[in-house]
Amino acid sequence: MAHKCFISFKKEDMYYKDKLIEKFDKSDVIDKTLDKTINSNDGDYIMSVIRSEYLKDSTVTIFLIGEHSSENEGRDYLGDKNYFIQKELQATLYNGKDNSRSGLIGVVLPNMYEKVYKGNYQCTQCQGNHNYVNINDDTAIREFSRNYYVAPHNGCAWTPDERYAILVKWDDFYNNPEKYIEEAFNKRSDPIANKIRIYNLR
Ligand SMILES: [Zn+2]
Repeated sequence: MAHKCFISFKKEDMYYKDKLIEKFDKSDVIDKTLDKTINSNDGDYIMSVIRSEYLKDSTVTIFLIGEHSSENEGRDYLGDKNYFIQKELQATLYNGKDNSRSGLIGVVLPNMYEKVYKGNYQCTQCQGNHNYVNINDDTAIREFSRNYYVAPHNGCAWTPDERYAILVKWDDFYNNPEKYIEEAFNKRSDPIANKIRIYNLR
């Protein structure tokens, strides 16, 4: 693979993380995970520590979307249950001095297919059919969902050009990871990268 990847996941989804580590060349993936709170009031400092000590020279982050990796689940529990994956995704999108932003892929794990992929609906604006893809605070970390459905947005459905983050089902990703990694990598220099939003840097 041409681009080094970092995997952001909850421990409940370690099985899938390990499958990817097995599949990729060792030099293509960083097998490390944020495991301590960075105590600082300086959001820029926190981001630079995470980038330099964890994400390192990776240019694409693979976010495993499982049953326990949503923004809302994190909030229900003292407000910081998902601190580590939040920070990993923020650092992914953060364009720092010495380390530029990475591409971002959300991989929907099999036990989330039904919750995320809700089928078609007929659009009242264009009369066409769109897929209803349920990516929001109930299913994903905000840094992912808001950069998948980039706002402000005109019209009805989002086109691929209007998204920074890439979304893919586990099976499709596992069969052909290079395709999605390349796509995510290229987004870093795409005009949509200027619309990236990062929430709650502290
Ligand atoms: Zn429409």
